[in-house]
Amino acid sequence: MSAENTRNFCIIAHVDHGKTTLSDRLLEHTNQVSARVLTDQHLDSMDLEKERGITIKSHPVTMTYPAKDGKVYKLNLMDTPGHVDFSYEVSRSLAACEGAVLLIDAAQGVEAQTVANAHLAVGQRLKIIPVINKIDLPSANLELCLKQLEDILTIPAEEAILASGKAGIGIEEILEAVVHRVPPPRWTDYPQARALVFDSLYDAYRGVIAYVRVFSGTLKSGDMMLLMSNGLRSEIKEVGIFTPKMEKVDALGAGDTGYIVSNVKDTSEIKTGDTITLSRHPATQMLPGYKEVRPMVFCGLYPVDTSDYEKLKAALGRLRLNDAAFVYSSESSVALGFGFRCGFLGLLHMEIIQERIRREHDVDIISTYPSVVYRVVKHGGEVIEVDNPINLPDPGTITEIQEPTIKAAIHIPNDAMGDILALVMEKRGVVDHTDTLDATRVMLTCILPLNEILVDFNDRLKSITHGYGSMDYELGEYRTADLVKMEILINGDPVDAFASIVHRDKAEGKGRELCEKLAEIIPPQMFKVAIQAAIGGKVIARDNVKEMRKDVTAKCYGGDISRKRKLLDKQKEGKKKMKQFGRVSIPSDAFIKVLKTN
Ligand code: GDP
Repeated sequence: MSAENTRNFCIIAHVDHGKTTLSDRLLEHTNQVSARVLTDQHLDSMDLEKERGITIKSHPVTMTYPAKDGKVYKLNLMDTPGHVDFSYEVSRSLAACEGAVLLIDAAQGVEAQTVANAHLAVGQRLKIIPVINKIDLPSANLELCLKQLEDILTIPAEEAILASGKAGIGIEEILEAVVHRVPPPRWTDYPQARALVFDSLYDAYRGVIAYVRVFSGTLKSGDMMLLMSNGLRSEIKEVGIFTPKMEKVDALGAGDTGYIVSNVKDTSEIKTGDTITLSRHPATQMLPGYKEVRPMVFCGLYPVDTSDYEKLKAALGRLRLNDAAFVYSSESSVALGFGFRCGFLGLLHMEIIQERIRREHDVDIISTYPSVVYRVVKHGGEVIEVDNPINLPDPGTITEIQEPTIKAAIHIPNDAMGDILALVMEKRGVVDHTDTLDATRVMLTCILPLNEILVDFNDRLKSITHGYGSMDYELGEYRTADLVKMEILINGDPVDAFASIVHRDKAEGKGRELCEKLAEIIPPQMFKVAIQAAIGGKVIARDNVKEMRKDVTAKCYGGDISRKRKLLDKQKEGKKKMKQFGRVSIPSDAFIKVLKTN
């Protein structure tokens, strides 16, 4: 089939607007998957993705569609991850397409991710096919959706297709629109072979499987491929397409989407966004848009049971193979023992990895408070990056500390405006401007420090707006802020796992909160134990652990010696898991409890 009859497209939507249901319906319509196999939704495969209703890994699929014009078309549907943490992955999936079906839930209207995704798609010069979905719902408000389409997205309402993935309405119309509105593959006559890597997967037997969109030339097994970002050469072992399962083919040509198996064994060597060319006639120019993805959020991960250390290490190694955006290195903590410093794209990415360690690898872990990557300008101009508060240099050597910011688009009902403005202010944000979406909703564009949205911003947004608010963000620039390292001291000794970098104005409140929590959770001690929060040696908050005479045998009456002995033995055993802070020993699970209550 020639590239003329190929269409590469994706479906973009706010979470829950029906992307998975519609994708499955398209597959079913093109007989790609029998209705029997379709009992479960097909494109989202990881359990976690299903639970959270998000797509993490992109699974493309090739369909064959006999259109009404009598020609048979090859339609490659790319799946895009739906969350801001993965915005680079989204942008690479979009770069592999010429068109995008933009879904809008007829009952919900345009949401933050709809706008963000539409902007990304327009930025990639994709043809947009607007689809108002779920029109079977009694609460569907077509008029409002069409108006929002014009007002917010500046897309003519007459271009919209009315559909329902669930009820099977408008499916044929969408497929026809893909064939006739989406242009055929671009850049096919570039003189050398070029393929865009938009994702990769690690397979224990076959090594790294790169998901590619071929723009020009032909790739087949036996060819020596060249990765343009790092100059790595490797022999192609197999090429194929997704139907949606992997199916070997002889060659991938211009306009095709499929996979490549080579000798490469580590996903970090085939990066999303890289261009594959052929070693014998290499392209001189990469496909546009490649960038190194860097983790933005870091935390320490420790096994709750220290004997799980090796198991955790193995789990991280395996997760890393499948996810080049996740990084880790070993670290140790006085309070928590041996563990790992881990870097993630964002908060959701962090949660997903932690959940997978717990569920798929069965290791109980505890994480320290997340931290962003700070830029520290030292006297003399040297700039260093700090992702762990304990590595912050001596304040006397620092000229300034800069923190990453985000530009957030927050969609809210009008009546939540006051509370949301207060929340944004509390989080040290500023509102850049507001746009009216319709009679009941507004969009705030805000600049916020990334650090401030790490913990509870999204939850509070949802609770203030009773679930109707939504947010999307992109990373902004680094900005100077009055930031300080706050330490928590137990009888004068710092507890490394609780060190944090905070804004000076917030240090006291946060310090007090932590001291209180620790004082409550640390079991009563034989003598007075002070818990203090301090900045550069100056105490800003304090609390005391309760004092108590510890007599574990008091409960035993009479002369039941064996029972007494047992209790004493038990206590001895418990002691082994104690951490020593000066004269004070504290069970390590107290730290774990404090970290868990956040
Ligand atoms: P995604 O998060 O965008 O992939 O959305 P899903 O396809 O998982 O759908 C989210 C929810 O909306 C599910 O409960 C679906 O059953 C429901 N849904 C999807 N499409 C339709 C539709 O056309 N009509 C109705 N009434 N519900 C739908």
